[in-house]
Amino acid sequence: MDLFEYQARDLFAKHDVPVLAGEVIETPEAARGVAERLGGRAVVKAQVKTGGRGKAGGVKLAGDPAEAVEKAGQILGMDIKGHTVHKVMLAATADIAEEYYVSFLLDRTNRTFLAMASVEGGVEIEEVAATKPEALAKIPVDAIEGVTEAKAREIAEAAKFPAELIDQVAHVLVKLWDVFVREDALLVEVNPLVKTAEGKVIALDGKVSLDANAAFRQPEHEALEDKAAANPLEAAAKAKGLNYVKLDGQVGIIGNGAGLVMSTLDVVAYAGEKHSDVKPANFLDIGGGASAEVMANGLEIILGDPDVKSVFVNVFGGITACDAVANGIVQALELLKSKGEDVSKPLVVRLDGNNAELGRKILNDADHPLVQQVDTMDGAADKAAELAAN
Ligand code: GDP
Ligand code: MN
Repeated sequence: MDLFEYQARDLFAKHDVPVLAGEVIETPEAARGVAERLGGRAVVKAQVKTGGRGKAGGVKLAGDPAEAVEKAGQILGMDIKGHTVHKVMLAATADIAEEYYVSFLLDRTNRTFLAMASVEGGVEIEEVAATKPEALAKIPVDAIEGVTEAKAREIAEAAKFPAELIDQVAHVLVKLWDVFVREDALLVEVNPLVKTAEGKVIALDGKVSLDANAAFRQPEHEALEDKAAANPLEAAAKAKGLNYVKLDGQVGIIGNGAGLVMSTLDVVAYAGEKHSDVKPANFLDIGGGASAEVMANGLEIILGDPDVKSVFVNVFGGITACDAVANGIVQALELLKSKGEDVSKPLVVRLDGNNAELGRKILNDADHPLVQQVDTMDGAADKAAELAAN
């Protein structure tokens, strides 16, 4: 889960990373009081989950509270790379002497954590990495040892920070590592980390991505979710504990096992090329031991998606055998009907694996008018795509 800058700022403050005072607001008029509290002058910053706000005009300086209201009015509602600005942060201004870059992230390729640092911050770091790779220090961080004072100095020195700043930068790095570990983050990035005219090192912009898999031990993180931006179908699926992702096609997909569902998406997209270019409408993995209730929950979400024109249920029976899945489908359709749900979209079911014969027989005997069976994955994908196209 990516956080807004103001949320990253709050986490930094919680773990003693030096930041400037700031408050987030949603209306231009609210800028007046905040600017007054900040001493009159303020930086007005668009809160959108994308970089390059500065270049896009989403970061403006205001000299007094009236100007803060004016700048907030200009930025609120602005579109930055497809993100509409609903919130702005007003922050105390900094007199910037230098702009640097530091980050910690998970380095999947090398199965470790990585610190990156550069004295050429402020600009897009991808550009520094591409045009001047020697200016970006990359130091692996051992998961057990973490970032000690010594490790932090090693990182700061590798990035060629000026000698008189090494102590301060190392201190900031140790605190940022605290944020990374204690908040279960996948990314903590500061760009720019600045040196002020008085020689103080401050995190001026923060980007934090939290690991959703750690949500169970981070109860405070739920409050950081951007509920307004969440897709309503995804939110409903999440509430039912389903592993669902909304896509922009027309063929609803249900399968058991993430790998099978991923390949089902590919097969449907490929089949769709022959049928008016229809595409998968979602990812939904109902997992190994899918009960009738889970199947009903999954079908309810998918049938409730107005984009969906047909549904492809692709199941490979394993520990949960196909007869149990077939019974689940039959019961799910009855359950939805009894709840008054509109079950009017055609379902193509492909059952294979453990007890496939029995599963198919159960569906044949049930003889549901909307359900048809196809024995192969390719054939079923083609059928579902054809039905969605018509
Ligand atoms: P980004 O463009 O989305 O990464 O947004 P940043 O928060 O990094 O801001 C972009 C640039 O605005 C920074 O690199 C700074 O040069 C400038 N900036 C941000 N805050 C201040 C401030 O308090 N004072 C001054 N003078 N410049 C600032
Ligand atoms: Mn930045």
